[in-house]
Amino acid sequence: MKNLIRSPPSLTPTRHPLCYRAGVNPPAVVLPKVAYRHTKIIFTLGPASADESMLEQLILAGVDVCRLNMAHADHAWTRAMIQRVREVCRRTGREIAILMDVKGPEIRTGDLPAPVELVAGQLIDLLPQGGGAEDGILAVAVNYPGFGRDVPPGTMVLVDSGLIRLEVISAEATRVRCRVIVPAKLGNRRHINLPGVKVRLPALTAKDKADIAVGIEEKVDYFALSFVREADDIDILRRFLSEHSSTAHIIAKIEDQSAIANLDEIIVAADAVMVARGDLGIEVPMEDLPLIQKRAVDACIRLRKPVIVATHLLESMILSPVPTRAEVSDIASAVWSTADAIMLSGETTTGRYPLECVQFMKKVAGRIEGSAAKGYNSALPLKTHKDRLLRSAVMLAQEIGEAGIVVFTRSGLLPQTLAALRAWRCPIYAFTDNPVAFRHLLLMWGVEPFLVEFAAAPEQCIRDAFSYLLRRGWVQPGDWMVVVTNVLAGEKTIDTIQMRPVE
Ligand code: PEP
Repeated sequence: MKNLIRSPPSLTPTRHPLCYRAGVNPPAVVLPKVAYRHTKIIFTLGPASADESMLEQLILAGVDVCRLNMAHADHAWTRAMIQRVREVCRRTGREIAILMDVKGPEIRTGDLPAPVELVAGQLIDLLPQGGGAEDGILAVAVNYPGFGRDVPPGTMVLVDSGLIRLEVISAEATRVRCRVIVPAKLGNRRHINLPGVKVRLPALTAKDKADIAVGIEEKVDYFALSFVREADDIDILRRFLSEHSSTAHIIAKIEDQSAIANLDEIIVAADAVMVARGDLGIEVPMEDLPLIQKRAVDACIRLRKPVIVATHLLESMILSPVPTRAEVSDIASAVWSTADAIMLSGETTTGRYPLECVQFMKKVAGRIEGSAAKGYNSALPLKTHKDRLLRSAVMLAQEIGEAGIVVFTRSGLLPQTLAALRAWRCPIYAFTDNPVAFRHLLLMWGVEPFLVEFAAAPEQCIRDAFSYLLRRGWVQPGDWMVVVTNVLAGEKTIDTIQMRPVE
């Protein structure tokens, strides 16, 4: 293995300054090493985080993934931001993955001449196919022509994050008459949630397809699909990606009741899952949220898929420089549950303290992880002998110290299984020569990936990996580590684990 790098795939290792990290050439830049952390951090890019110096600070502070929320982004901005993030990564020498979050099927109210203060008991007509007011009743457009078909009388219509609650009293194709149950001020283009209703909107709208086409061209690493209802929704996106030769992974956003009902099959179909607590908290009773979060995290671990806990983790820090006590506990509970990643949304898009949010997340995650006793997920169903070998690697690594495991991988599957074993205090250093796998490993619990060129001889690969980890301060001379690699035995390659001191 030569020229160990953690660089973008487009650059050849020998030309990239990060080659200096392997000591192949004299160091030209001082490269950052972020302290090891099991739990990954995702931030959402917006006006508060988009300038280069803030981006640089966030990347150096330790964010692992940058999310672009296409509900609020146009294509020119998206392309410019992706290039900017990559440029800052190149400059700082720390790579992060890029996630494009597409809006999915979303129902919204239309424009009003002016915001209207609703009152309890008032009637309001929702018009899915145009038309105007009748009988002096307030009429508001809805952007989904099939709305009248999907909402029988008695349906609850929640508007603007559930601030306004309407009950359908009659539904025709062109006019849905509702009574205001909980009033508030109704503004333009407010989001509508229909808890428990199976809406017949397509999984991918025309806007989604146009956004995804940009993401494919810009080679984003992940697409998050909003309002996934069943595994078929994932398959539709998967086909779209493969028709366009994209290797991006798909994150299913769990944010309504259908997704909860079909959770396991969605997890199997997707590459990762996001517990999107913003919309989920509108679609289900709020007190169910922690139970659903726990169930989704546990199911993802069992099915070996990364899982993200999203939204409101540090909501108060949009305006305040310090979090609430409850927010600290919320982060702690996500970390304890061994979610792969925790996500910042409004905190880093429009908040006043984007950097402080990342620093707080890091501090809380580090404190909680540091307090965890050694141990691993012994409940993970093991299917193959390779799985059993990896479990042995984890047990051995925990027994001999805390230096961790070195694993060599082409597809990324070995570190993904090691991650699912959720071994506390056991870093997983994954060396791969596959740029796609490298970027997908950035999201996984406990995995610190490195993009490298493999030497022909397995022994040389191990020596190069040790020398790199030593040089960068991840390990100390004499630390005992477990190495997962295959060796040549005559004509055959054999999977092995080795216990070796770093030298
Ligand atoms: C959420 O609802 O929690 C979420 C992450 O989705 P969005 O930000 O797209 O509403």
